[in-house]
Amino acid sequence: MNKKNKKFSTKSIHKGQKPEKIYGAVSLPIYLTSTFEQEEFGEYIYDYSRAGNPTRTNLEKNIASLEEGHDAVAFSSGMAAISSIIHLLSSGDEIIFTKNVYGGTYRIMDKIYKNFSIISRWVNTSNLDEIEKKINKNTKMVFVETPTNPMMEICDIKAISSLCKKHNCLLIVDNTFMSPYNQRPITLGADIVMHSSTKYLNGHSDVIGGILISNNDKIIEDLKFIQMSVGAVPSPFDCWLTQRSLKTLSVRMKAHNKNAFEIAHLLKSYSQISSIYYPGLEDHLNHDIAKNQQLDPDGKSVFGGMISIDLGSLEAASKFVKNLDIFTLAESLGGVESLVCHPATMTHASIPSEIRQELGVTDGLVRLSVGIEDLDDLKDDIRSAIK
Ligand code: PLP
Repeated sequence: MNKKNKKFSTKSIHKGQKPEKIYGAVSLPIYLTSTFEQEEFGEYIYDYSRAGNPTRTNLEKNIASLEEGHDAVAFSSGMAAISSIIHLLSSGDEIIFTKNVYGGTYRIMDKIYKNFSIISRWVNTSNLDEIEKKINKNTKMVFVETPTNPMMEICDIKAISSLCKKHNCLLIVDNTFMSPYNQRPITLGADIVMHSSTKYLNGHSDVIGGILISNNDKIIEDLKFIQMSVGAVPSPFDCWLTQRSLKTLSVRMKAHNKNAFEIAHLLKSYSQISSIYYPGLEDHLNHDIAKNQQLDPDGKSVFGGMISIDLGSLEAASKFVKNLDIFTLAESLGGVESLVCHPATMTHASIPSEIRQELGVTDGLVRLSVGIEDLDDLKDDIRSAIK
């Protein structure tokens, strides 16, 4: 089958997935091996599974095609992927970050890479002037999350990419909240796309993983060298599970998008909720940018499965969460099952309280990861919890 120029869902099922040659198995075997026989000294396709493994290659080829990159590099977690991006730098280099990033991204920069003199500048990356003001001769990268976690702010990837090109620095986009079904940053000018594949890519809350995709062959070569040298590689079994999940990414994302859109509009009707952060609402601060850059493979605007709401106080947030039945209180997001999280005490606890307040991550803020259960049941769950 010629799989060139095929559309998104077809690529997600077939790219890198040629039936296996010995028995013709359509579902590819998991190459659970640490090492490989060599016919002659130095003659091999794979030599050792830290350096490369066929199951990992299959996953990397598949996700690269979905993100429209040349290749991908898989890791054992999203944080290992972020850490590998930082390994592209040298001491004294600077990175500009979205101020409202995932708490773990803030922690690794503040507690680990600061000690290696990698300097982080935290700015509101929804504002181009703020980014440009922080760029100097040492700035090597701009790292954005869009939508941000958990405030759902949107950055204009295309505009930031032009700014990066002007100043000769790389643009990295954490695309975890969207998945390539909803947003393809490389087509908007990003140099590296990053995922915590733990989330929508794997989508079943049973694997921790990370992945980087690029259309720049030199960056890929450097990242593969870091992957092999540092060794934070995913197991073949985790690669296989993630690859299996990618085959249903389209159908899952359609359901996440639909359910969250409906739930956000339902939440809007309740006066108990002081703020709703969801880019699909017309009064969202960056709705127009989201509408133009978050497009499904058919070009339709989509807004993802994540919603944050402010219930005004810790007490109200706690009461709401306790009254939910289907939404489970847990870290993480992007799985088929609906989850609820309290960022101030969970995902963003490592961010100092005064910075959290400044970002809007209040004690009353609750983040919903809307799953793909029956929409009527999810709506009933929200209604009765608010009551
Ligand atoms: N980026 C975002 C947006 C995240 O939400 C997370 C984890 O929640 C990470 C990165 C880190 O990924 P992992 O937990 O797979 O290491």
